[in-house]
Amino acid sequence: MNKKPIFLILLLLIMVALCSCQKESDITRQGFYFDTVINITVDEKHLSSVSDAMDLCAEMENTFSPTKEGSEIYKINNNQNIGISKDVRTVLDFSMAVSKESDGAFDVTVAPLTKLWNVKERTIPPTDDEIASALSKVGYENFSLTGSSEDFDIDPGAVAKGYAADRVRDLFIEQGIDKAIIDLGGNVVLIGEYSVGIRDPFNPDNLYAKIMLKDKSAVTSGAYQRYFEYNGKRYHHIIDPRTGKCAESGLASVTVISESSMEADALSTAIYVMGEDGLSLCEKFPGTDALLITEKGDVITTKGFEEKYSLTLFN
Ligand code: ADP
Ligand code: MG
Repeated sequence: MNKKPIFLILLLLIMVALCSCQKESDITRQGFYFDTVINITVDEKHLSSVSDAMDLCAEMENTFSPTKEGSEIYKINNNQNIGISKDVRTVLDFSMAVSKESDGAFDVTVAPLTKLWNVKERTIPPTDDEIASALSKVGYENFSLTGSSEDFDIDPGAVAKGYAADRVRDLFIEQGIDKAIIDLGGNVVLIGEYSVGIRDPFNPDNLYAKIMLKDKSAVTSGAYQRYFEYNGKRYHHIIDPRTGKCAESGLASVTVISESSMEADALSTAIYVMGEDGLSLCEKFPGTDALLITEKGDVITTKGFEEKYSLTLFN
């Protein structure tokens, strides 16, 4: 039996990380790319652009998926000598910059660890020996796109969806669209002004906060969507490359706002690993802001956030 439709509906019900207010003439179309549900909303007169957007998402998935044989990332990881496309170069160059600026809390070469933890299928955590062995193959400092990087495995999972969302935005702007919500599994890009909800990480069916955004992207990272539980402890998909284990930084979720969804995507993952101190990362990437919800339920933001985005807290 094909389980995908049931899976899609379940995902839609439980997984959308951010939601936005819409107009009556807006229509939303849904797809499944990057292992997640995507929702694209435009005015009904622009419906034909949505299928172009879906095609672009398929192309981005076929470029960045580390598991799809034949994808560019798959070829790089399997040492097949290929030219690097502009898309992959942009994403890897930016990932390297965030790896450096975060002192390795974000690490583009984290793949041996994410493969080992494989939270989608695992039910028991890996052993310390397995973690140590995977950890020895991780280290952005020794990775370069031009040098000999044969021993490295790249995982663009924390940034590729953001990049794809930016590409869809650029396509829509080229096509003259001036209002749209592009939501690639919680990587939200807005063309125009919308109210955006931030999910409650402790009860993801509810909203924790609401903000107003115009022509920006908001991306949330948290441990409440992809995880397994063992002996009462949650093991999730964001790894601290310094320990080789799931990040435990005292944060329940991190939402980053930027004009670039690629930037918001990478920074939300990096700050989630770094914890409260990670807020300083926003200073290194001008034009970015962040809202952190701690495990205790406190809210910490970059300076001026409340006024800039008309923050409303529901708790
Ligand atoms: P999501 O993909 O659920 O939206 P994120 O953007 O936070 O969430 O990305 C999590 C993904 O990033 C993981 O599934 C994994 O592929 C990758 N990843 C996990 N930990 C790190 C890390 N420390 N640095 C870079 N990438 C990571
Ligand atoms: Mg991310």
